Amino acid sequence: MNRNRNSVEYHKEWAKVRKETIKRDRSTCQVCGYGVRDKNRDAQVHHKDGDWTNNDPENLETLCWDCHKEVHRLKMPAILRALRLFDDE
Ligand SMILES: [Zn+2]
Ligand SMILES: [Zn+2]
Repeated sequence: MNRNRNSVEYHKEWAKVRKETIKRDRSTCQVCGYGVRDKNRDAQVHHKDGDWTNNDPENLETLCWDCHKEVHRLKMPAILRALRLFDDE
């Protein structure tokens, strides 16, 4: 895993991957089934293994804001900060 990836490139790629994941999941939260909207922070794309450089489709899932917050609060408190979840993920 290359963690030294140029951050501008990463964010460009992430925007694309994020969109594709939300589309694949039919804009539905994979935990509670809530229909998310891509337009705002409602739609969250979560890295299941906690590695935000692993953009493999298998590692990604669409979650609503509340479920995403819960997943990180319960399972990945350290990663929550690293991801700046409350910022722009
Ligand atoms: Zn949810
Ligand atoms: Zn996440």
